[in-house]
Amino acid sequence: MEGIDFKRSIDLANIFTVTSTYKGKEQKSTYALQHVVQTLLPGKGKNVVHLASDDALNSMKLYNQYGNASDSVLKQAHNKLLKSKPQPSWAKRHDYCYEDVCLAGYYEAKCRCGQPSLKN
Ligand SMILES: [Zn+2]
Repeated sequence: MEGIDFKRSIDLANIFTVTSTYKGKEQKSTYALQHVVQTLLPGKGKNVVHLASDDALNSMKLYNQYGNASDSVLKQAHNKLLKSKPQPSWAKRHDYCYEDVCLAGYYEAKCRCGQPSLKN
């Protein structure tokens, strides 16, 4: 529990949520941890994969680098995120099916298992 077991929790997604204007409308963009790591941490190539231990380590690196960063440093990071194109998701790269397991929980058009969508 916050304040007892640990001092406080921080949602990194809030630090890396970027507000921009597109066609006159304000929009907020959030990015997968994998994309933030690839874009903002030096030396991270395109082969970043989801491993809990790596995710934790990379999250701490991002926090140490950007958790208390100045507005100008954060703005630079946000601009980098806006300009970089995220890699397609693992599910998309495997056409939403891997080893006969349907990965289209949120994409009904690609569903092969007939289970209800997770979208709602
Ligand atoms: Zn399915």
